[in-house]
Amino acid sequence: MKLTSYGAALEVTGSQHLLEINGKKILLDCGLFQGHRKEAFEKNKYFGFNPKDIDAVLVSHAHIDHTGNLPHLVKEGFKGVIYCTDATKALCRPMLLDSAYIQEQDAKYFSKKLSNSALPYEAIYDADDVENALEQFKSLPYDTKFKLFEGIHITFREAGHVLGSSMIALDIVDKEDNNKEKRFIFTGDMGRDRLPIIKDPYNFKKSDYLLIESTYGNRTHAPIEEGVPELARIINRTVKRGGKIIIPSFALKELKN
Ligand SMILES: [Zn+2]
Repeated sequence: MKLTSYGAALEVTGSQHLLEINGKKILLDCGLFQGHRKEAFEKNKYFGFNPKDIDAVLVSHAHIDHTGNLPHLVKEGFKGVIYCTDATKALCRPMLLDSAYIQEQDAKYFSKKLSNSALPYEAIYDADDVENALEQFKSLPYDTKFKLFEGIHITFREAGHVLGSSMIALDIVDKEDNNKEKRFIFTGDMGRDRLPIIKDPYNFKKSDYLLIESTYGNRTHAPIEEGVPELARIINRTVKRGGKIIIPSFALKELKN
């Protein structure tokens, strides 16, 4: 078994991890790297592997830093199936179309602004590439074991992060290690217990390998019940001193044709 991270390692965004097992190449997420324009363009434009060699993609959830490079992967020759939950598949259409639209607008703006610059500002995929990629999606229900390949079963479990978010368990019979049974868990982004609207993350009993997000790994969150009074305190303090409050959020926008 071999695992290589091509993004979201020692950095955030661009989640992309290649798991090689039993002669198969399984890509875990295919996110866009989001950062300074030039660096992001170069990181997103060139894959660290050949997309044609990938046998399957498993997607944890619909956020662009986990899915945003899928249309490009398909454009570059990936022919396999992209597995995810029902809601992730449904959310990916507006999210990826929006991503293509933003890239096209960006490219237009910069080609006008920097007409004779050599800077490579172009969209890495367009709406047609998104439609092509969506045809390769296959959704699977939560909590149901699915045979991915001989000796590799996958199960999507609730991750409690956003609608459709999942942690993916791979139950593997390792042909290169005396057919030993091994469990590999890829959490994607994980939510916290007792959040409103979203279900609690699933509680795995065991795993041999765990690939887990650690964005807040160096912080201790206060109990969720303290969140609302804390927010109220910040808002009241800011209003009192005449300040402004900006609340960043991952937003999902519907495209109107
Ligand atoms: Zn996320």
